Parts: sequence; C-alpha cells; structure tokens
Amino acid sequence: MLEVKNLDKSYQKDLPALSDISFSVKPGTFVAIIGPSGAGKTTILRSLNQLIKDDSGEILIDGDDIRSANKAQLRKHRRQIGMVFQNYNLVERLTVIENVLHGRLGYKSTLAGVLGRYTKEEKEEAMSLLEKVGLEDFALQRCSELSGGQKQRVGIARSLIQHPKVILCDEPIASLDPASAQTVMQLLKDLTDEYNLICVANLHQINMAKKYADQIIGIRKGHLVFDEAADLLSEDI
Ligand code: ADP
Ligand code: ADP
Repeated sequence: MLEVKNLDKSYQKDLPALSDISFSVKPGTFVAIIGPSGAGKTTILRSLNQLIKDDSGEILIDGDDIRSANKAQLRKHRRQIGMVFQNYNLVERLTVIENVLHGRLGYKSTLAGVLGRYTKEEKEEAMSLLEKVGLEDFALQRCSELSGGQKQRVGIARSLIQHPKVILCDEPIASLDPASAQTVMQLLKDLTDEYNLICVANLHQINMAKKYADQIIGIRKGHLVFDEAADLLSEDI
C-alpha cells in the first residue's frame, strides 16, 4: 500500500508547488495523475522517489515512511521503486538486454563490461522480462536501432528487474505515436495486474487515463482536485 499524507512542497518561498496532497493506492492498481502543465505532477513523482525533498507530510510504502529513512533505508526503498521516463533514459549504444540488466544496479552505475557481471539467472530473468514486453527477438540489438515504443518497453522491462512494489512513470507516452502509446498503456495495465504492482503514471491525456487506469488523481495548481476510480469519473472533467 502506498499512502501519501498532507504532502507540501515549495521550490520558492510562498510559492507552493504542492499543497496538502493526500491519497492512497492499493497493490494491483494503475493510477494516473492528470492535470495541466505546471500543476505539480512531476513534483509528486519526484517526492515519491525522494529525488526531491518535500517540505512536510508523510509517504508510506507498506507502512514505512520513506521521508524519515536514513541513507541505507532510502537505498532499500528505492530498490522497491522502478522508474520509467518520458525519454526512456536508455544507454543507446548498449544492447536491449544490457539495458534491462542495468536496472539491477541503478542508473548511476558504471557501464564497463556490464553484461559479463551478471549471473546466468539474472540474464534468464532479463530475457523473460523481454518476453513479457514482446521484445525477446530484439535482445541483442542496440537500443539506438529501436522505435520509440520499443524503447519504452525496454524501459519498462528495466524497471521491473528489481521486483519493485511501485513503478513511477513520468509521462511514459508523451513522446510516442498514438498506436505505440496504446500498446505501452495496455502493457502497464497488464503488468500491474500480473505483478500486483502499484503503477503511478503522470499523463496529460484524460482519455488515456480513463481507458487504462484504475484510479485517477487530478492535480491543479498544486492541489488535489479529485481522486476517483476511473469508471466513476464523470464525463465533464
Ligand atoms: P507538472 O509536472 O504538472 O507539469 P511540476 O511538478 O513540474 O508540474 O511543476 C509544479 C510547479 O513547480 C510549477 O509551477 C513549476 O514551475 C515549479 N517547479 C518545478 N520544478 C521546479 C524547480 N526545480 N525549481 C523551481 N520551481 C519548480
Ligand atoms: P543510490 O541512490 O543507492 O546511489 P541509484 O541512484 O543508483 O542508487 O539508484 C537508485 C534506484 O533508483 C535504483 O536502484 C532504481 O530502483 C531507481 N532508478 C532510478 N533511475 C533508474 C533507471 N534509469 N533505471 C532503473 N532504475 C532506476
């Protein structure tokens, strides 16, 4: 269970980016955070991974407050959180499977000889994740040769290799053509069900949120303006 309680964040004094944000998400839930540009969606995601320090509030993952974690605990929490990015953040010159395996170490790790450092089991797991995202035939291809939609599926496989409880997707479909966007949303929905994940995605498009998400959180000017099951969301939003 992910619980956010009374989260506040200001980048500048007297200019709150987030004000009193509270919501909770159960495992097996795909939640979309929607709202106009500048509403505070990215700030919420960065707070959830503690990439930025919020000013006050609580962020609980299965009851543990990640805001009060020390460095070692924070590292452990981050391993439970996978990240998916708008521009994929892949290492383009490496192969697809190397990029997936790279998720085991985190994005700051050294790249030298990445593949040789992994066990047979780790490589098998990376291959099975590539099957899940439909890219098993591309394992040895360089990422630079893939389409945007394929790259994002590599990014998703990479986010899963640490067996996260939560995956945070920052505008996962904003750089994709409509058909690839649908494929990626369907994949996130299916993986959320299969692995009982909490998947939190920032989106601009309300129609995509309604079609694929289970829960929709609306943010406007740093305030939470709604938090509803997707099928209960009224038409006029
Ligand atoms: P969204 O993701 O919904 O577009 P953001 O979370 O990026 O919104 O931004 C929320 C508000 O915080 C905006 O007013 C934005 O200008 C401000 N903001 C975001 N990042 C920073 C930063 N690093 N420094 C100062 N202000 C920021
Ligand atoms: P530390 O904070 O311990 O130095 P890192 O900064 O290397 O660790 O990564 C922290 C965690 O953030 C990773 O273990 C991973 O869960 C997540 N993460 C962030 N970015 C990525 C990414 N591009 N690929 C995979 N995982 C990522």
